[in-house]
Amino acid sequence: MTSSPKKQSKYLNRLAEENGVAISIVDNASREVSVSNNNSMCRSLWYSPDFESACDKYCGKAFAAATNAGKTIEYVCHAGLSCKALPVNDAGKQFVAIVGRTFLRADSYRNATEKAIAGEWRRFRPTEFFENVLMSSTDENLTKTVQQLEKFSKKANEDILELDRPLPKVISEPALEVKSSAETTDLTQNFNKEKYKTTGPSTSTAIIKQPDDSREVSAWRSLFGSLMKLEYREACSSILDFLSKRYDLDSLIWLERRDDRLEGLVSLGTLAGKSVKIGMAANNERLRDAARLDTPLELRERVADKSDAKPQTLSIFPVTIGGEVRGAIGVGYSSMDAAAKRNISRFAQTVASQLEILRLRDEVSERDWLARAVIRFNESLKNIDTDDFWLRITQISAELLGAERASILIQNEKSNTLRAKASIGSRINLVTEERVGDRVSSVVLASGNPVIVSNLQRVGMRSAPVNWSYKTSSFIIYPILIGSRKMGVLNFTDKAGGNVFTERDLELLRAIAPQIAVAIDRTALKDKAGEYEQLSVTDTLTGLLNRRYIEERLTEEVVRSKRHRFPVSMLMLDVDNFKSYNDSFGHPAGDAALKIVADILNEALRADDVAARYGGEEFAILLPQTSSEEAAQIAERIRRRIESAEFPKRRVTVSIGIASCSAHIGTPKDLVSAADVALYEAKNNGRNNVQIFGNLENSLNENIH
Ligand code: GH3
Ligand code: MG
Ligand code: MG
Repeated sequence: MTSSPKKQSKYLNRLAEENGVAISIVDNASREVSVSNNNSMCRSLWYSPDFESACDKYCGKAFAAATNAGKTIEYVCHAGLSCKALPVNDAGKQFVAIVGRTFLRADSYRNATEKAIAGEWRRFRPTEFFENVLMSSTDENLTKTVQQLEKFSKKANEDILELDRPLPKVISEPALEVKSSAETTDLTQNFNKEKYKTTGPSTSTAIIKQPDDSREVSAWRSLFGSLMKLEYREACSSILDFLSKRYDLDSLIWLERRDDRLEGLVSLGTLAGKSVKIGMAANNERLRDAARLDTPLELRERVADKSDAKPQTLSIFPVTIGGEVRGAIGVGYSSMDAAAKRNISRFAQTVASQLEILRLRDEVSERDWLARAVIRFNESLKNIDTDDFWLRITQISAELLGAERASILIQNEKSNTLRAKASIGSRINLVTEERVGDRVSSVVLASGNPVIVSNLQRVGMRSAPVNWSYKTSSFIIYPILIGSRKMGVLNFTDKAGGNVFTERDLELLRAIAPQIAVAIDRTALKDKAGEYEQLSVTDTLTGLLNRRYIEERLTEEVVRSKRHRFPVSMLMLDVDNFKSYNDSFGHPAGDAALKIVADILNEALRADDVAARYGGEEFAILLPQTSSEEAAQIAERIRRRIESAEFPKRRVTVSIGIASCSAHIGTPKDLVSAADVALYEAKNNGRNNVQIFGNLENSLNENIH
């Protein structure tokens, strides 16, 4: 072949870029031998193990399909991209050129971005995935590219660069640093074609609705080149700046489509800081016509009836994508000649697709950020200890929101009041501060709707007492709900850096609030379960712990005692002659007496000691970190207190046996048996006395030796 591969690829690149399409040349094994101006989405998808097979069904089959058909075939792939594939011949070798990979319909594009934002493509990094998205409003560019490639194929033996009419001369322009085809094709309607001039760009910039003046083109290009480096909002600002300088305009506003209305996003000059909303629907015919006719829609400012002010006009230049109004540039209080109006109108439509990509890129990273924040929050939630649950949950949410002060108020179902469970950075005294609930929180909880206030004074709300000393007057109160159950509210104030809370903070809370609600509910359930557990280890008559509990604790304490060489002792206590008490005064009187014994035990013991009803009129007392001598003192104190206590029917006495862990007593069972032996000894000793197993042991030993 006569044309060098280098020339060939240069030609393909230029053809692809000029037409805003991708051109992929595949061989008979469906290998991509060259690709020009590829759609970045294709690049990500085709090389990912999970989507490769989906791509295989389309671009992967293009070679077979086009060569079998012997002509150009068309398809829309799984990603919603439109392609044409045609057999091409190069030096006698068969290839297929896949042309397009562009979104021809706004809904396919939106579908794809939705997948990238929240669906199966979210794994791809937005910056790469959206780096070079191709869009067109008609398939005219695809057809044109195909026709040029057909010519190329037929005359493959000649120098391709001489085949076509020479490409238009490139206008000298500043180099574009960011390669992106966000600035792809004209997405607006293809009416009035004679106005379009297809100057050949040297970069991926493609056919755009351009002004007649080439100086304009070069000025626009340098702006477009810089836009892709910016975030959406910055890009809008930068566009206003550019227009203001270029067309000598004083007041400019970027209007953004929200739902179905156009609202001011950023503004310049006299319009700066003004809240502007356009009264008509964004898809209004008049707005679309304005774009079509390259003239602004002139709107009159609404002036209050009694005002003397002369209504101002705002010239609206719609920013359209696929005929749909996505936003608008508003020019106020300035005079523009017809040429300027036409230029600005074309400019608005030319910049549209690039901005749409920036907007979506922002949206993707925003959702990404949100998803990451939620994951982090859930991780922290998992690690929360039940002990400091309330404090931690307040801390974690405050950190996420960048709030220096936060508190959590929980609704007490019985008293129907809000009570602060935890607070950070606040001077609220959790126990005594009741006022917190009086304020907006209870209203928020009742309504179930969050409140975000950027300036307390401005809303005319009673401002906080001076001693609360808030740094800022911006706050958020967010209700915690499970279904219709109103659990409490989270309060945040003093956003770090003196900033105000925004919709973004609410968005974050919206994402984490359900997790918070569930965590709170779970904690509440656990507390309840704790109560049940308490019940199952409590003796109902005396309110002491029961035998099941003390046996478990005994096991733990014996292990601890061995490991740390702590002493541990236990008392076994039995009411003397209790059978006769019952027989004389009846069982209920016996119960009452047992209750009094239990109360005395409770009073006589230290915090760490554990008293349990072991069975019948028998009690066991565990004395951690207590030697047998100390235990004897405690036992003696108990014995005396009971002996001298006033019982309704008659005097009651107890006998107590003491045992401690030692070289010979190393298991809970041994300990209980030893205490039992000592108790038996106390009974034998005439009752109403205390016996220590050790002494017994010693005396036994003494007797033996
Ligand atoms: P000792 O001094 O030898 O311990 O004599 P005792 O009469 O206390 O001994 P015994 O084991 O023969 O009797 C225990 C009595 O305690 C039997 C029962 O009437 C009484 N008793 C056990 N559990 C309860 C209870 O829950 N309530 C009442 N009212 N009496 C109980
Ligand atoms: Mg007994
Ligand atoms: Mg007894």
